Amino acid sequence: MMAANLRNCAINTATLGFQCPIAQSIDAIAAAGFGGIAPWRREVEGQNVPAIAKRIREAGLKVTGYCRSTYLPSLTREGLQANIESNRRALEDAAILGAQSFVMVVGGLPAGSKDIAAARAQVAEGVGLLLEHGKRLGVRIALEPLHPVYTAERSCLTLLSEALDMCHHIEGSVSEPSLGVCVDVYHVWWDPNLARDIARAGREKRIAGFHVCDWLVPTNDVLNDRGMMGDGVIDIPSIRAQVEKAGYKGLIEVEIFSAQNWWKRPVIEILQVCAERLATSV
Ligand code: ZN
Repeated sequence: MMAANLRNCAINTATLGFQCPIAQSIDAIAAAGFGGIAPWRREVEGQNVPAIAKRIREAGLKVTGYCRSTYLPSLTREGLQANIESNRRALEDAAILGAQSFVMVVGGLPAGSKDIAAARAQVAEGVGLLLEHGKRLGVRIALEPLHPVYTAERSCLTLLSEALDMCHHIEGSVSEPSLGVCVDVYHVWWDPNLARDIARAGREKRIAGFHVCDWLVPTNDVLNDRGMMGDGVIDIPSIRAQVEKAGYKGLIEVEIFSAQNWWKRPVIEILQVCAERLATSV
């Protein structure tokens, strides 16, 4: 059996179904040989964040990304300001954790709105303000475009090209960008312009994260029925090759939301299968 270089791979803790406290996840991920972790705010906020950061460091893990932003769009200015403020606080925790990036899922239409243009404008405004805060803290912001099926409820930012346009619009052309994108195969695999846009993301030095899982056929729940790598229809090795050819040297992060299957299994088993599939199907 091939072995993946697990030191170059990270586990997004959502993959483990939030079955155990963050301290146990850190230890299990490190013990299984992985090189990184991507924790969620629900596991970190209200806890002793410096102590969590220390435990991650002492386990020898990098923090690939800190998940994730409060959705930005709101029906009111006050609501938008509150959402930006919530993200400012999360950026501060990302800095304490030493996260390579703060992952932003930008939000869709606020309840009661049909104005997607307004939502997009609020996202651009909010990301611009947060970028300044992130720069002061030394934390890169990674915009994650989501599959268009999530436009209404989770992300009015859907295409990789759109995310790159937004980065350029906000930050301009810079040699060391503080604003980047996450390439998550689940969200972008279907895009006919994917190869073109991954190459562009590389040229513009914007690739801040690479997430893997698989698209199952049939998919019973677009939110929580993601597949283990190799169980679906995404040509993950091809996308990985494109991302690496584009210059991405960061970790490969496994991120699987699977309420009915993987989350029901023991953490040790999930990690073991992730390790196997990273060798054979990524
Ligand atoms: Zn992702």
